[in-house]
Amino acid sequence: MKFGWTIIPLLIIGLAILSMPTVEGQWVSVAIHSTVEAVGATIAILLGCYLLLGLNKDNTWSFPFLGLGFIGMGIFDIFHSMTGPSDSFVFLHSLAGIAGGLGFLSVLLPKWLQNKGKSLASVFLCLAICFAFSLWALNYPNTLPQMHVGMSFSPAAIYLNLLQAFLFLFPLWWFYKERHHLGLTRTYAFLLMGALFSFSGFTFAFSQLWSTSWWLWHLLRLLAYVVALYIIGHANYELHLQVARDKRALEKSNEELDAFAYTASHDLKEPLRGIHNYAQFVLEDYGEVLGDDGKAKLETMCRLSNRLDGLIESLLRFSRLGRQKLVKKDVSAKDIVDGALDSLATAISEKEATVEVAPDLPEVYCDSTLLTQVFQNLVANGLKYNDQKPEIKIACNQTDGQAVFTVEDNGIGIREKHLDAVFKLFKRLNSRKKYGDGLGSGLTLSKKIIERHGGQIWLQSQYGEGTSFYFTLGKKQKA
Ligand code: ADP
Repeated sequence: MKFGWTIIPLLIIGLAILSMPTVEGQWVSVAIHSTVEAVGATIAILLGCYLLLGLNKDNTWSFPFLGLGFIGMGIFDIFHSMTGPSDSFVFLHSLAGIAGGLGFLSVLLPKWLQNKGKSLASVFLCLAICFAFSLWALNYPNTLPQMHVGMSFSPAAIYLNLLQAFLFLFPLWWFYKERHHLGLTRTYAFLLMGALFSFSGFTFAFSQLWSTSWWLWHLLRLLAYVVALYIIGHANYELHLQVARDKRALEKSNEELDAFAYTASHDLKEPLRGIHNYAQFVLEDYGEVLGDDGKAKLETMCRLSNRLDGLIESLLRFSRLGRQKLVKKDVSAKDIVDGALDSLATAISEKEATVEVAPDLPEVYCDSTLLTQVFQNLVANGLKYNDQKPEIKIACNQTDGQAVFTVEDNGIGIREKHLDAVFKLFKRLNSRKKYGDGLGSGLTLSKKIIERHGGQIWLQSQYGEGTSFYFTLGKKQKA
């Protein structure tokens, strides 16, 4: 049993009970009894919330009224644990059993009716009833029916506990009938829990306050609560497995998609190269025959095929990025930025741009080639999408314990509604004529690089005034 550890609290309480001093066959300990009841009540409320909200792997076994029943049981048991032996004490215990039993019985209701249990009104009604009865029992004990005579229980108490026993017993066949839907492990857990609660209800009639049999059915109830704990643990475990399975499936499908994009773009390149070459041959060999109009059309064809080649190359790089293993090491961010700026030296001087790099850039753990590409893309955009002398600032600040890099420009800015769109593949916002022949893939690739590092990238922009890109690189984890 994977959740065998749940037996530990039971063993501790069992040992505590055994170590209690006995006086004429009676083990009197209000403290231990209260602990047992409080532990059970806590578990009941936990299980109740689980069943009410349907927190299981695919929400297929939510039992709202059963959940409310257990919550009610927990509330009554908490109040029961706070009182010493008295009529209120027995009354609250009996109500707890009946609340749980009614919840158990509710699984027989049709599904549409069960779903009503999820409504706020049902939850409030359940809480109101439980608190009202509990407060009544605690504050007006004289108005309660007699629940015990000396150390023995009154007929009223015995009948109420017998009722609980039947309420838990009756729906057991339903759980068995639904075993394929519920799953065998869970079904047996519910069956065992119901049987234990039922049995404890039957044995109540044969017990007296503080007697051995009285403690015995308390232990049975506690065991039932341990089974409840197991049900919660099992549901959690299943949820965890399902998430892991979904994650693996998603990773696999992403890998397949990357592999497909890679093969498709790779295979597309070859015929495209042929078309481009033949258009070039026709231009060279038959240019005079075709005349100016024919030549212009063929030149457009070459230009377009070049552009298509660029787009396919971007796709290839994008899919490669998803599959390639990062070569991470500790490097100085200053060296990376310098490398990026070196490759942009011509554009920087042509645009008479100033690039200000903060002196305190930290050391980073990253794939330096890829991170250089990110800085290159961001700075190149700052230069390109700019109507004045570009001023670019590169800095790094520590926010919430992690390094946030900034690349800020005084360019044309991006309208707020386009802030997310710029990261989409092949998405361009500006005219090719005015701002150059980009492919609309630089930011998509940058985003993928940052995400592969476990970081995030985002931007802020004032349209007409400039844009700031921010990114983090995630925690240092060995690749
Ligand atoms: P490309 O620059 O090749 O078109 P990107 O993916 O780098 O592709 O950018 C996508 C689009 O986002 C650009 O076409 C441009 O419209 C807009 N953009 C990117 N960076 C900036 C910037 N710093 N200032 C203004 N617009 C920008």
